[in-house]
Amino acid sequence: MKVPFSPPKINDDVINAVVETLRSGWITTGPKTKQFEKELAEYCGCRKVLCLNSATAGLELVLRWWGVGPEDEVILPAYTYSATANVVLHCGAIPVLVDTKDDFNIDIEAVKKAINPHTKVIMPVDIAGFPCDYDELLDLVNQQEIKSLFKPSNERQEILGRILILSDSAHSFGAYYKGKRSGSLADFSVFSFHAVKNLTTAEGGAVCIQMPQSFDADEIYKSLSIKSLHGQTKDALAKMQIGNWRYDIVEPGFKCNMTDIQAAMGLAELPKYDKETLPKRKYIFEKYTERLKNYSWAQIPVYKTDDKESSYHLYPLRIKGINEQQRDKIMDVVFSHDVAVNVHFQPLPLLSAYKSRGYKMEDYPVAYDNYSREISLPVYYDLSDQQIGWVLDALIDGVNRVLGA
Ligand SMILES: *Cc1c(COP(=O)(O)O)cnc(C)c1O
Repeated sequence: MKVPFSPPKINDDVINAVVETLRSGWITTGPKTKQFEKELAEYCGCRKVLCLNSATAGLELVLRWWGVGPEDEVILPAYTYSATANVVLHCGAIPVLVDTKDDFNIDIEAVKKAINPHTKVIMPVDIAGFPCDYDELLDLVNQQEIKSLFKPSNERQEILGRILILSDSAHSFGAYYKGKRSGSLADFSVFSFHAVKNLTTAEGGAVCIQMPQSFDADEIYKSLSIKSLHGQTKDALAKMQIGNWRYDIVEPGFKCNMTDIQAAMGLAELPKYDKETLPKRKYIFEKYTERLKNYSWAQIPVYKTDDKESSYHLYPLRIKGINEQQRDKIMDVVFSHDVAVNVHFQPLPLLSAYKSRGYKMEDYPVAYDNYSREISLPVYYDLSDQQIGWVLDALIDGVNRVLGA
């Protein structure tokens, strides 16, 4: 493979940090995880962070903490990775899919139309790392007519008195919205540190807690940690203290804590993230744009506006005026040049688990149009100028051959 799609950024600092942790005698959740949580909260400017083994686990724990269950509805975009909707089904609730906009993110007008007395949560997704319109979303759920539709079914819901905003920020670590970082923009935001994401711990995720001051962030942290460890009142480190063996199980919880090996990877990368990682990703975006803007068929993704700056996670190029079959053929030509490209995402109604639940692609025309013309170009730290050139040559050859230009 001349150009892979997104190999992880693993340098000697990361390798040494992992080895040091392995030699330290403590490999599961412990001091490194606590340190990583503290540094993440400082980085994002949010009240508190809990690290877990995945973003998926984080999204589900928040839904369960909020008390989402049968007959409840959670509004989310049709255009996302399946994790966003799967966790709603795990809770026995109903994912209400809405269409997206031209920038790939959730359409707030469509959200508004979907709200009813069953709505408990809105889950916007920062597709490709570009933040959603958080002020508009928060304004919407705080409107009197929308608040009067909200039917609280437990004490937490009564205290907040409105629909919860839970951001799937899996892509947007380091992104900005009106001068604030992703992680501090919604009531809860969940990052992914999966191997293909901008900052990786192999597998991993983090829940950023930014609930209003009427909630105690430490209490939410504690409650989510207990859920992440079998409902156990003490974690492994606390139980290690001599004589401190007895614990209680207060609920049948999950098992999705982060290990110190993972946290060590994150801690080694975090200080370099703004200095090296984001600037390099931005550089790649600009290189792609610089050449592609000369082609009338290229629809350049939006990644920077007055209010927003992407985390430069994905470069979701669209080709103007093509259909899904033509897109696939262009990709085949690109693959034949040994260059890996991808599609983000197949909208949920195209996938068997969702199709069979009655979701129909024709109900989400913008999501389908975005998908059918989309090709994600490789973006990763070690991508060289020469490789950027190969990607573009392969793409241009593909478009020329398929569109006969
Ligand atoms: C990667 C991803 C997730 C899931 O992250 P995990 O850490 O693998 O659970 C969720 N949502 C979106 C949009 C993603 O791309």
